[in-house]
Amino acid sequence: MMLATVFSRAQCGIEAPLVTVETHISNGLPAFNIVGLAETAVRESRDRVRSALLNAGFEFPARRITVNLAPADLPKEGGRFDLPIAISLLLASGQLECSGIAQYELIGELALTGMLRSVRGALPAAICCGKAGRQLLLPKTNQAEAAVAEQSTVLPAEHLLNICGHLSGEKPVIPASSDSISSRQTSSCFADMMDVHGQQRARRALEIAAAGSHNLLLSGPPGTGKTMLASRLPGILPALESNEALEVTAIYSVSTHNAAPEWKQRPFRAPHHTASAPALVGGGSHPLPGEISLAHHGVLFMDELPEYDRKVLEVLREPIESGRITISRARQQITYPARFQLIAAMNPCPCGYAGDKQRTCQCSPDQVSRYKRKLSGPLLDRFDLQIDVPRPESLPLPGDIPDKQPENSETIRQRVITARSRQLKRQNYCNQQLRGKMLEQHCLLEKPERDLLNQAMDRLGLSARACHRILRVARTIADLEGTDKIQRQHLAEALGYRLT
Ligand SMILES: [Zn+2]
Repeated sequence: MMLATVFSRAQCGIEAPLVTVETHISNGLPAFNIVGLAETAVRESRDRVRSALLNAGFEFPARRITVNLAPADLPKEGGRFDLPIAISLLLASGQLECSGIAQYELIGELALTGMLRSVRGALPAAICCGKAGRQLLLPKTNQAEAAVAEQSTVLPAEHLLNICGHLSGEKPVIPASSDSISSRQTSSCFADMMDVHGQQRARRALEIAAAGSHNLLLSGPPGTGKTMLASRLPGILPALESNEALEVTAIYSVSTHNAAPEWKQRPFRAPHHTASAPALVGGGSHPLPGEISLAHHGVLFMDELPEYDRKVLEVLREPIESGRITISRARQQITYPARFQLIAAMNPCPCGYAGDKQRTCQCSPDQVSRYKRKLSGPLLDRFDLQIDVPRPESLPLPGDIPDKQPENSETIRQRVITARSRQLKRQNYCNQQLRGKMLEQHCLLEKPERDLLNQAMDRLGLSARACHRILRVARTIADLEGTDKIQRQHLAEALGYRLT
């Protein structure tokens, strides 16, 4: 055979489109060309493939070799095509025989020795390969990640020769098993709510936020436990469903952050306020997922919110609504999922002590208003719950016996799960996403409650958007209580969750 075709997968966001690697060997002056929008990395792969073949004891044909990666308009980066190019070359030159090559897909970078090196995005490739009914041959170092795709057959190998041994039928590769993953129990690694003493109002707000997936803004002087509260949110959320966990793992698979959260554990990301826009929302010439995508199905914590670059904050508004982010580049447009729950913290003023009983605020009224103006109205509207976290009246001293042991995370989590299942049964998503008609339908108020809300709107000068926020929160409070109707006390409590 002078012509061989092998299947592989490119990486495009968390998609893995099929790539066909065609190799033709013809007579003529010795040459080795790779065509099909091959970028620098693919051109470099020429040299790696040549060395790997020679070092693995094969012959490199001294003839005219043309490799075509199709479709041509698909951006292809990285060394992931080394392995399929090498195999197609061996097939085309008759050094390897495999009649069933069409049932395989291959990805992997080659070291000069012929050893296989891991590639980014092995999981999306494994998922797509399984859907196409083929088996995936890939580097052993990608095995754990790819094996999460339970419906796919993943064949891990260490060396080019192992792959050849499998394809020729001499020594089959043992498929990676995925049993360990599906049966793996999730143990919560998050800090427990039991350690949060006092702060009853903040604890309650956190529970409501968890139950309705609402975004939460905490405002208070430094050292009142805002970070402590936020980091405990994932621990009171329900575990991820398998399909959600698969999405999360796929995002980490294509990112440069190799440590994905434990299987079915919700991610918790806390980027620093100096983070750039690409780091936060995603970017680069081959756009990588940013913090908001790494927090998909989990929690994004932004401490000292007004300190972030204002442009960065404005970019956030769209993904908060849509649950995804689209990054446009000259040649491609990539969409990453970004359905995260946002918890933000801020000081009441630049020095942090406005309204504090223990210390005096040093800021001028002008400084305070400039500080608050950094957060635009539309952004603030994305926080259904906004609360002050004041310094506790008296801190418990070592040796003091607390009146009552605070509830632990698991107890709260059970209530959250019950409240969430009510929402999913009613509208198929969390209350945070209630908008327009659905909001009207599911947050119906009777006359006395409607009057109460109207009065509050007049008295406090609330906008229509603010009014919707209050309705969504009241809906969640009623769900936590297990009632279908929003009652007066639910509405009254919801009205209290706004900054003064
Ligand atoms: Zn101040």
